Amino acid sequence: MANEVAIIGAGIAGLTLALSLHTQGIPCAIYETRPEPQNIGGAVMLSPNSLRLFDGMGVYNDLKRHGFSFDTLYFRDLAGDLKETYPFGSVEKYGYSGLRVYRFQLIDLLLEEINANKIPIYFNHKFSHVVSESTDTVTWKFIDGTEKTSSLLIGADGIHSRVRKYMYPDLSPKFTGLAGITAAVLTANLKLPSPDYAMPVTIMSPTHGAFVIAPQKPDGSEVLIGKQKRIPGLSREGWDQLYADKEAAVAFLREGSEVFGDIAVSATSDIPHAHINIWPFYIIPKLDSWSSTHRRVLLVGDSAHAIPPSSGQGISQAVEDVVMLAMLLGRGRSGKKDLGWWQEFRQARLQDILLLNARVDKRRLPKIMGSDEEDDAEKGFDLDWLYGLDVVSVVEEYVRNS
Ligand SMILES: Cc1cc2nc3c(=O)[nH]c(=O)nc-3n(C[C@H](O)[C@H](O)[C@H](O)COP(=O)(O)OP(=O)(O)OC[C@H]3O[C@@H](n4cnc5c(N)ncnc54)[C@H](O)[C@@H]3O)c2cc1C
Repeated sequence: MANEVAIIGAGIAGLTLALSLHTQGIPCAIYETRPEPQNIGGAVMLSPNSLRLFDGMGVYNDLKRHGFSFDTLYFRDLAGDLKETYPFGSVEKYGYSGLRVYRFQLIDLLLEEINANKIPIYFNHKFSHVVSESTDTVTWKFIDGTEKTSSLLIGADGIHSRVRKYMYPDLSPKFTGLAGITAAVLTANLKLPSPDYAMPVTIMSPTHGAFVIAPQKPDGSEVLIGKQKRIPGLSREGWDQLYADKEAAVAFLREGSEVFGDIAVSATSDIPHAHINIWPFYIIPKLDSWSSTHRRVLLVGDSAHAIPPSSGQGISQAVEDVVMLAMLLGRGRSGKKDLGWWQEFRQARLQDILLLNARVDKRRLPKIMGSDEEDDAEKGFDLDWLYGLDVVSVVEEYVRNS
């Protein structure tokens, strides 16, 4: 159907975009290269700014039942003293606690809504390239050569986006030199310093970086353990080897665990290989435009702005992108000025998140030997600007006033 919106990618950005467009009465279809729904990367953290939007999509209550709710991340030094806290949610302040939930559970709930609303979703459909674009339509191809025309083509195809290649043929994501190495282990294995030891916790060492422990599953019976590793750029084969070498990941998690105390030694005593994740952090530079010349091709989520995970905002920012965009499209606001406003608003917010990430990284990464890297001069985190903002009201106000 030429008047429908085609969404490339059934990750969280693509699925939430489809639901948001549906709410606006805009027909859409999703095309996903994988043969089945995404199931990568263990549990994810969700903050009030996206939980509010998931609530609007009708999936929050079920999501909450599957997840571990918490309000605060604790930063401790090696002596166990509490150095700082990092807010992640508050029912009182923002209407929602933070939530750790398995990604596949979030995807499953979104898919249930997609199916209940009869939104077409096609797996095994790999987008290849845009063939042509006019002021009204865009024509594009899958890798099997099939051609399609739609009113809009929205790239929700992640950090290595092919849709983005249409607008930025020479741009490749840049590896930051950092990867998160994580595993899931039983909470019962942990030797806690005290029975009421508060988690999620980041234990900081000036020389060994930080050891993160974050409960998951509704009863907190499992924890994610993780450290960030500096890694030189690797070839494709080098990455494949790194992903395959689970023993090396276990060794990295165990390395120096005694520095972090009994809790880290016990947490790393029995690490099931099946629950190890290696997550290289990539970024893309700030893009000049998230829409093509005739505004028939748009980018959202990681394809527009992949950000490292330090503040746990990847999903939340993708969902903010798509809810705002769908509202604008639903109100017939898809002109240059409107999409320009949307992009500018989104990029300003992402810039603030990058600054926040840098502050968190100062606490989580080991200092490079001999570097003159300074500690964060600012102490404490006031994140009302991040969690308190309701993007729905922001768009409503924009539409009212422009
Ligand atoms: C291991 C891991 C852990 C993470 N943890 C967190 C966390 O705790 N909190 C958080 O906020 N964020 C987290 N993130 C980041 C977060 O997952 C993303 O920022 C967010 O999901 C937005 O992703 P997306 O939907 O834009 O892209 P993706 O999730 O990458 O989805 C893109 C989809 O497009 C499909 N696709 C790609 N190319 C094509 C093509 N040519 N044709 C058709 N389909 C295509 C892919 O198969 C995929 O399904 C994590 C990411 C990873 C990898």
